[in-house]
Amino acid sequence: MSGSEWSDMSEAPALPERLAPSMTPDTQFFWDGAKEHRLLTQQCSACNRLRHPPRPMCPVCNALDWEAVEASGRGTVFSFVMPRHPQYPWFEPNYIVALVELEEGVRLVTNLVDVTPADVTIGLPVEVRFDEFAGGLVLPMFRPRRAYGEST
Ligand SMILES: [Zn+2]
Repeated sequence: MSGSEWSDMSEAPALPERLAPSMTPDTQFFWDGAKEHRLLTQQCSACNRLRHPPRPMCPVCNALDWEAVEASGRGTVFSFVMPRHPQYPWFEPNYIVALVELEEGVRLVTNLVDVTPADVTIGLPVEVRFDEFAGGLVLPMFRPRRAYGEST
Protein backbone atom coordinates (compact mmCIF):
# COMPACT_ATOMS: atom_id res chain seq x y z
CA MET A 1 0.00 0.00 0.00
CA SER A 2 1.44 3.35 -0.97
CA GLY A 3 1.71 6.37 1.25
CA SER A 4 -0.89 8.23 -0.71
CA GLU A 5 -3.50 5.56 -0.01
CA TRP A 6 -2.79 5.82 3.69
CA SER A 7 -3.24 9.56 3.62
CA ASP A 8 -6.54 9.11 1.79
CA MET A 9 -7.75 6.74 4.47
CA SER A 10 -6.80 9.14 7.23
CA GLU A 11 -9.08 11.82 5.87
CA ALA A 12 -12.38 11.70 7.64
CA PRO A 13 -15.33 11.65 5.28
CA ALA A 14 -17.12 14.99 5.12
CA LEU A 15 -20.07 15.17 7.44
CA PRO A 16 -23.40 15.97 5.87
CA GLU A 17 -24.74 19.40 6.78
CA ARG A 18 -27.54 17.77 8.69
CA LEU A 19 -28.25 14.27 9.87
CA ALA A 20 -30.89 13.07 7.45
CA PRO A 21 -33.94 11.14 8.64
CA SER A 22 -34.33 7.60 7.39
CA MET A 23 -36.77 7.46 4.51
CA THR A 24 -38.79 4.41 3.62
CA PRO A 25 -41.59 3.79 1.10
CA ASP A 26 -44.02 4.47 3.96
CA THR A 27 -42.52 7.85 4.87
CA GLN A 28 -41.46 9.08 1.43
CA PHE A 29 -44.64 11.13 0.92
CA PHE A 30 -43.95 13.07 4.11
CA TRP A 31 -40.46 14.13 2.99
CA ASP A 32 -41.62 14.84 -0.55
CA GLY A 33 -44.29 17.11 0.93
CA ALA A 34 -41.68 18.90 3.03
CA LYS A 35 -39.72 19.67 -0.14
CA GLU A 36 -42.85 21.51 -1.37
CA HIS A 37 -43.19 23.16 2.07
CA ARG A 38 -46.32 21.15 2.81
CA LEU A 39 -46.81 19.38 6.12
CA LEU A 40 -48.57 16.12 5.27
CA THR A 41 -50.22 13.55 7.48
CA GLN A 42 -51.87 10.27 6.64
CA GLN A 43 -55.65 10.03 6.66
CA CYS A 44 -57.28 6.62 6.75
CA SER A 45 -59.60 6.19 3.77
CA ALA A 46 -61.94 3.96 5.79
CA CYS A 47 -62.40 5.78 9.12
CA ASN A 48 -60.91 9.19 8.23
CA ARG A 49 -58.58 9.21 11.26
CA LEU A 50 -55.33 11.11 10.86
CA ARG A 51 -52.14 9.39 11.90
CA HIS A 52 -48.48 10.22 12.34
CA PRO A 53 -45.75 8.98 12.15
CA PRO A 54 -46.52 7.28 8.83
CA ARG A 55 -47.32 3.58 8.91
CA PRO A 56 -48.92 1.20 6.44
CA MET A 57 -52.02 0.26 8.48
CA CYS A 58 -54.61 2.29 10.37
CA PRO A 59 -54.17 1.54 14.10
CA VAL A 60 -57.92 2.09 14.66
CA CYS A 61 -59.62 0.07 11.91
CA ASN A 62 -56.69 -1.82 10.29
CA ALA A 63 -57.49 -0.44 6.84
CA LEU A 64 -54.56 -0.21 4.44
CA ASP A 65 -55.87 2.59 2.19
CA TRP A 66 -54.94 6.14 3.06
CA GLU A 67 -54.48 9.59 1.58
CA ALA A 68 -51.97 12.32 2.30
CA VAL A 69 -53.67 15.45 3.59
CA GLU A 70 -52.04 18.77 4.27
CA ALA A 71 -52.04 20.02 7.86
CA SER A 72 -52.39 23.66 8.81
CA GLY A 73 -48.87 23.74 10.22
CA ARG A 74 -50.18 25.21 13.46
CA GLY A 75 -49.98 23.46 16.80
CA THR A 76 -48.82 23.66 20.37
CA VAL A 77 -45.85 22.29 22.29
CA PHE A 78 -46.99 19.07 23.95
CA SER A 79 -43.61 18.18 25.45
CA PHE A 80 -39.97 19.08 24.92
CA VAL A 81 -36.43 18.12 25.93
CA MET A 82 -32.98 19.64 25.52
CA PRO A 83 -30.53 16.81 24.87
CA ARG A 84 -27.06 17.38 26.38
CA HIS A 85 -25.33 14.12 25.53
CA PRO A 86 -24.19 12.89 23.21
CA GLN A 87 -23.27 16.07 21.38
CA TYR A 88 -23.78 15.96 17.62
CA PRO A 89 -21.98 18.14 15.10
CA TRP A 90 -25.26 18.85 13.30
CA PHE A 91 -26.86 20.68 16.21
CA GLU A 92 -26.00 23.87 18.03
CA PRO A 93 -25.73 23.44 21.81
CA ASN A 94 -29.06 23.78 23.63
CA TYR A 95 -31.16 22.67 20.71
CA ILE A 96 -34.73 21.79 21.52
CA VAL A 97 -36.49 18.57 20.56
CA ALA A 98 -40.24 18.93 20.88
CA LEU A 99 -43.36 16.87 20.54
CA VAL A 100 -45.77 19.23 18.79
CA GLU A 101 -49.49 18.55 18.78
CA LEU A 102 -50.99 19.84 15.57
CA GLU A 103 -54.40 21.51 15.44
CA GLU A 104 -55.54 18.41 13.56
CA GLY A 105 -54.77 16.29 16.63
CA VAL A 106 -51.69 14.34 15.56
CA ARG A 107 -48.31 14.81 17.23
CA LEU A 108 -44.89 14.89 15.64
CA VAL A 109 -41.33 15.04 16.87
CA THR A 110 -39.53 18.12 15.61
CA ASN A 111 -37.10 20.86 16.58
CA LEU A 112 -38.09 24.26 17.95
CA VAL A 113 -36.33 27.22 16.38
CA ASP A 114 -36.42 31.01 16.73
CA VAL A 115 -36.90 30.68 20.48
CA THR A 116 -34.62 30.54 23.51
CA PRO A 117 -35.04 27.50 25.75
CA ALA A 118 -36.18 29.69 28.67
CA ASP A 119 -39.16 30.89 26.63
CA VAL A 120 -40.46 27.42 25.76
CA THR A 121 -43.51 26.31 27.71
CA ILE A 122 -45.94 23.45 27.43
CA GLY A 123 -48.83 24.68 25.32
CA LEU A 124 -46.77 27.31 23.49
CA PRO A 125 -48.50 28.06 20.17
CA VAL A 126 -46.13 27.19 17.32
CA GLU A 127 -46.18 27.08 13.53
CA VAL A 128 -44.19 25.14 10.98
CA ARG A 129 -41.18 26.52 9.15
CA PHE A 130 -39.35 24.54 6.48
CA ASP A 131 -35.56 24.59 6.62
CA GLU A 132 -33.52 23.53 3.61
CA PHE A 133 -30.17 21.80 3.93
CA ALA A 134 -27.50 20.67 1.51
CA GLY A 135 -28.41 17.75 -0.69
CA GLY A 136 -32.04 18.77 -1.09
CA LEU A 137 -33.01 17.81 2.44
CA VAL A 138 -35.96 19.81 3.79
CA LEU A 139 -37.04 19.44 7.41
CA PRO A 140 -40.14 20.84 9.09
CA MET A 141 -39.21 22.90 12.15
CA PHE A 142 -41.52 24.79 14.49
CA ARG A 143 -41.24 28.31 15.84
CA PRO A 144 -43.45 30.38 18.12
CA ARG A 145 -46.56 31.42 16.25
CA ARG A 146 -46.57 34.99 15.08
CA ALA A 147 -49.49 37.31 15.60
CA TYR A 148 -51.37 38.47 12.54
CA GLY A 149 -49.63 41.36 10.85
CA GLU A 150 -46.29 40.68 12.46
CA SER A 151 -43.56 40.41 9.86
CA THR A 152 -41.63 37.18 9.62
ZN1 LIG B 1 -58.99 3.67 9.89
